[in-house]
Amino acid sequence: MSLLFSKLKLPVSSLVLSRSYVVAISLQQNASNNSILIEEFTKLCHKRDLPRAINAMKSLENSGLMADCTVYSELIKCCISRKAIQEGKYIHKHLFSNGHQPESFLLSMLVNMYVKFNLLVEAEKLFDEMPEKNVVAWTTMISAYSNAKISHKAFKFLIFMYREGVRPNMYTFSSVLRACDGLLSLKQLHCAVFKCGLESDVFVRSALIDVYAKWGELDNARAVFEEFVTGDLVVWNSIIGAFAQNSDGDEALNLFKRMKKAGFLANQATLTSTLRAVTGLSLLELGRQVHVHVLKYDRDLILSNALLDMYCKCGGLDDARLVFTRMKETDVISWSTMIIGLAQNGFSGEALQLFEMMKLSGIQPNYITIVGVLFACSHAGLLKKGWYYFRSMKKLFGIDPGREHYGCMIDLLGRAGKLDDAVKLLHEMNCGPDAVTWRTLLGACKIHRNTDIAIYAAKQMLNLEPDDVGTYILLSNIYENSQRWEDSMYLRKKMTERGIKKKPGCSWIEVNKRIHAFIFRDVSHPQIDDIIRELNQLLHKLKVVGYVPDTNFILQDLEGEQKEESLQYHSEKLAIVYGLMSLPKESVIRIRKNLRICGDCHLFAKLVAKTEKRTIVIRDQVRYHHFQDGTCSCTDYW
Ligand code: ZN
Ligand code: ZN
Repeated sequence: MSLLFSKLKLPVSSLVLSRSYVVAISLQQNASNNSILIEEFTKLCHKRDLPRAINAMKSLENSGLMADCTVYSELIKCCISRKAIQEGKYIHKHLFSNGHQPESFLLSMLVNMYVKFNLLVEAEKLFDEMPEKNVVAWTTMISAYSNAKISHKAFKFLIFMYREGVRPNMYTFSSVLRACDGLLSLKQLHCAVFKCGLESDVFVRSALIDVYAKWGELDNARAVFEEFVTGDLVVWNSIIGAFAQNSDGDEALNLFKRMKKAGFLANQATLTSTLRAVTGLSLLELGRQVHVHVLKYDRDLILSNALLDMYCKCGGLDDARLVFTRMKETDVISWSTMIIGLAQNGFSGEALQLFEMMKLSGIQPNYITIVGVLFACSHAGLLKKGWYYFRSMKKLFGIDPGREHYGCMIDLLGRAGKLDDAVKLLHEMNCGPDAVTWRTLLGACKIHRNTDIAIYAAKQMLNLEPDDVGTYILLSNIYENSQRWEDSMYLRKKMTERGIKKKPGCSWIEVNKRIHAFIFRDVSHPQIDDIIRELNQLLHKLKVVGYVPDTNFILQDLEGEQKEESLQYHSEKLAIVYGLMSLPKESVIRIRKNLRICGDCHLFAKLVAKTEKRTIVIRDQVRYHHFQDGTCSCTDYW
């Protein structure tokens, strides 16, 4: 720090200190005192004591002296770090006082200061006044507008920069790329990158991959990645993140393996993306392995939240609870993740308790938190509480009810058998019901066997999703059951015309770090004969204890030939049996399914959990089912 003042005309120490000090200094000019004061000053500077520093500057002014640029630059840095807007403006004014024209690097610093304060109008005004603008100043403005998502301004500055003959550098490109508002501008920028010979720069390449991925152009993202021969962790992270965020978890994990093989060590960003991929694929065991690598970054909130989300979505609630209680820091995302995780896994009471704790902790709930709360209310059948939060969420938390909140309420009313009220609420939605909302109502109709409203809801759904095979089958089942043969025929004809076929059911189970897929009517699994033999024995055993196959299909979306005899070979049954055969007795059988679980498989899983004393977790298209001791966490409503 003493260096800082070597250029000053006045004794260094007087600069920062209060008036009384200044008086003292002017009386004591000897060197030993100065060194004490320098030490004192250094301390103040480290403390970033802005008010005293500014006072000292005023004192200097009173003595007819000016601070030099090193002092100013220190003061500007101090203002930025203290987020001191008023003081920053004062220093700006001070710099220009007495007709003085500040050095351009100080002007650059001031522009940067205004950008950091998010005062873009002031920043631009000062930028315009700069006599010479270098690439750093241009890039500051471009990245400011890019971060503020004002893309047209970012592009405008890039064009002006070219016109003034200033060549963009890698920082300019990585900023402006993130402002891309369309594929066309992205491709133009990609060309400009080539022209400037910056295509092999790590940051530019990583920005290109990120932006291509943002626009869903994974092939282009991959092409940019594969051109890169030497590799760099930043670029690896971009490509892994690209696939993880675009729901291609398999490819993200493949790339992760390739990265490790190439000798790179995963950092926080890699692990966050990997956890996202694991979450999407519901691979709890793999998630646990990633957790080991996460341990050393336990202060990284984004990573901890991703870990929490992984455990919640993979049905590992015990691990999630542990991670949550051990988190060094939590934010609204951590709390919401945990509340939704508990609610979706059937622990509604605990979710609502946690919500109370969250309010006590002073963290303000957001849109997602309230979805979790209403979800919990609906699953616990808490009609009054649900209505209370729904009706007062705007007043209590300043959040307008959105589609998801309406969805939870319709679910809640539906579960309580208040189907007419549910329909009424559905028509109240100012955002308009979507297919998910109608499907929720349809779910309630199935439970309460209300065919009239079911027909109404199914027709609305088909308007929104005219190719939804499940709805066609469900509707035609209802028609057939009410002997409305003509209506049923008409629907079947329409299905054939549109070329709609039902997706085969598929279930996945992880055994010994390998994923085993079971597809309805597919016999390609190497142990399929053993599995079917085992399954038949198990069914026989269950029938002895009173299992009767649930063949009530009127309000289910099962096809005719899928009924009765084929029921027993549904993919989740095969996966359960394979789990029983190959996993140790104490481990949980975890299955992921592409469709909703049918009533019969649900009953089967409950009985197997009881007779075989196993815990079975099935994540279907909509929710999680934890089967334990003859019951399911969804309380038979899904
Ligand atoms: Zn089934
Ligand atoms: Zn269930």
